[in-house]
Amino acid sequence: MPHIKLLQKIKKAVKAQPFADGKDSHSRFQHNNKKNQDILIHNIPFTFTCDEKEKLRCFTDHSIIIKGDTIQEFLPSKKVRGKKFDLIYDAGKRGGIVVTPGLINTHSHPPMYLMRSAMMLDEGESVDETIAAFPQWEQSMSDVDYAYSSIGDITEQQKSGITTTLSHFSSYTPLEVAARATKQNIVNAVSVASSVHPENSPELIKKLLKGRHESASQLAICFHYIYKAKPAVLKEVQKLSEQYDLLVTCHMAESPGVATKCKEKYGLGEVDTLGKYGLLNSRMIVSHSIYVSDKDIGKMIKNRVGVVHLPTSNVIHKSGTFPLWKFRDKDGGQFLSLGTDGVVSKSRLDLLSEAYQTRITHLYGRTIKFGSLFKMMTVNSARILNMPDRGRIMPGMKADLAFWKLKDRGFIPFDQKNPMTILGNLITHGGRMVRDVMINGEFIIKGRYHQFINESKLLEILQKRHMEMRKRVKK
Ligand SMILES: [Zn+2]
Repeated sequence: MPHIKLLQKIKKAVKAQPFADGKDSHSRFQHNNKKNQDILIHNIPFTFTCDEKEKLRCFTDHSIIIKGDTIQEFLPSKKVRGKKFDLIYDAGKRGGIVVTPGLINTHSHPPMYLMRSAMMLDEGESVDETIAAFPQWEQSMSDVDYAYSSIGDITEQQKSGITTTLSHFSSYTPLEVAARATKQNIVNAVSVASSVHPENSPELIKKLLKGRHESASQLAICFHYIYKAKPAVLKEVQKLSEQYDLLVTCHMAESPGVATKCKEKYGLGEVDTLGKYGLLNSRMIVSHSIYVSDKDIGKMIKNRVGVVHLPTSNVIHKSGTFPLWKFRDKDGGQFLSLGTDGVVSKSRLDLLSEAYQTRITHLYGRTIKFGSLFKMMTVNSARILNMPDRGRIMPGMKADLAFWKLKDRGFIPFDQKNPMTILGNLITHGGRMVRDVMINGEFIIKGRYHQFINESKLLEILQKRHMEMRKRVKK
């Protein structure tokens, strides 16, 4: 396992200082012992989640009981009694905490984090120019750079309440290291057709499958665009995906240029090409999907293909506008999700600002309700990633939770008689940092401090490596 040495090296370099809590009366955390197996999140003034019928609900004065990595009970606070807990988190103190499910990001490129500021995309380039300039930056980075990049990107996502991330990249190791170092739930989609890494192929996936039971990240398959993959590769991808139940993801119909290239190579549009190779199914996740016909949309919905809407990227790269209402009108809204993409395609690595961008992008048609945007970050994205036990706060669900301080900028003022206005504030005025984050029943961020990564050290390393990368690209 070559990544273990790298992981140890990085962990030593960015190890966080233990957080002093429990003894401090100011703390929300009351540790009764060191086990942290039975946890009570108590007195939550407002909890937002979809219920078993996927209806958005706001629960007031509720508590969550967690055992290990799973939510055991979600009940009115006054009904909690008797039981001893290893840890009690008081969500009612000092103005209170708003709890939501951890947000789920269905499209990102974490190893590119080191490129923040390297390509100022809003200064003129089109998506085709960007694609052309990209390889020289990507090639200038080592696996160690990619790993630090990934940790930088993932921790930034965590601070915005994201607890599950699909990564689309050419190399497996950086994301496996990041999953272990940050404890994020990561779908690690590895490219089988990469121009920067021509050695990548379905054979690589077969090799990685051997170690999948020991992996912290969940293996998946990606290709940058459909036209980049040869017919034999698509055939092999279909076989592997079906045999091992692997998710497959690609950018699709992002610009007229890529759509044309697919037609030239396959004689078919992108959706029909996926269909021909047996890839139009619920394991498929396509990002962008701007240049699709009404017929294409019908086929995608019928086959339960997951779609990642990336409105910021679409504007920055001058790609076009995603036909959101066409999907919604054909009852395809349930397959729409949001992603952070990478730092070269988005202003900040959170989903809340992407939800807001979605709202204003499509405002000229009709208004997308806050509830629909919330679903795009929780239940829809869980469906698309085939993770039925995430994205909701209910018994049996994994304990992935985001804790937002209510007495904070962006949240206040709200209408106390209509708590849904808090959700509107979170999306419209929020997009800011969480106070605490729990992933699989473990607090990853406490009082805005990451428990496993020393961010100050991490940022120093990223800055140094960024400048070294610039020198290499200039040559
Ligand atoms: Zn992308």
